[in-house]
Amino acid sequence: MKTEIPCDLCGRNIFDRIADRDRDNRPLDTVICTNCGLVRHADVPSEEDLATFYSGSYREEYNGEKTPGPRRVMRAWLNGERICRQISSAIPAGAKILEVGAGIGCTVKVFEQAGFRAEGIDPGGEFLTYSRERLRANVTICSLDDLPGTSQFDAVLLIHVIEHLRSPVNALRRIAGLLKPDGLLYVECPNLQAPFASRRRLFHYAHIHNLVPETLQQFGAAGGFELQQRFGDGQDPNLQMLFRKTSDVILKTDPLNAQRTLKGLRRTDFLPYHLRARYMIDRVRKVSSYAREQLRAQAFVERLIDNCSGSQIGSRAA
Ligand SMILES: [Zn+2]
Repeated sequence: MKTEIPCDLCGRNIFDRIADRDRDNRPLDTVICTNCGLVRHADVPSEEDLATFYSGSYREEYNGEKTPGPRRVMRAWLNGERICRQISSAIPAGAKILEVGAGIGCTVKVFEQAGFRAEGIDPGGEFLTYSRERLRANVTICSLDDLPGTSQFDAVLLIHVIEHLRSPVNALRRIAGLLKPDGLLYVECPNLQAPFASRRRLFHYAHIHNLVPETLQQFGAAGGFELQQRFGDGQDPNLQMLFRKTSDVILKTDPLNAQRTLKGLRRTDFLPYHLRARYMIDRVRKVSSYAREQLRAQAFVERLIDNCSGSQIGSRAA
């Protein structure tokens, strides 16, 4: 099929449909570019469509006043700590770091406590009051396009954001412009090829692009970045990649990627027994530990807020 909006990676517009339902069985056409293997919605939503979609859950309704639950905060904090452990040794001490799509603000705060000048922007800013007043994290409501182009960051974090973008290439080029020469970009997003990412559980209106390792790496290259390090393994539900800004913008596509991605998707529809068993055991553990986790999270967040209330918000928010 021919699509109106060309492939963000290779610019062609010939796609094959691979699914017609989202994870909740609502109609959603998902297609794969026959040239480069990029998987995305058949109809890329317009900026207006996206604004309407997101405004239902926050923006106007909450106006920064929403309070995240303790489990959500604890998970976001532990996730931020994992990311900081993974990449902080690659970033110069005291470096200036920007998180694009900072959400609750936990990761920004974790990096600040690790000695970096960390700040975050979030276009919706649904948790802005919580981020700033409880966590004392330096987060502002701002979109990537509205940031002054003169900001010189040593590193940018893009965590569970790229899959939501209409044009990841444009965003990555914009980010490259915000970084110093040799600056770092850390990207995390769902991995379409993860064993449990069966297509029945995958597709979601808000995730315009669905990435595999090759397409994330190609997006990086098209935005002016080269891969430095990949974290996690093929079992991990998320891709975790650290890129370095280069002076070259290389648009390279892999003609075998489409075939490989389709083969991978067919495989995940028929999981081997041992993987399925592992998945089921994980699910049972998850459900049975819910009450315990809730208690643990409440205590965790109380300590966390105590700890954060002693520290200062950085210069941007002051
Ligand atoms: Zn393509």
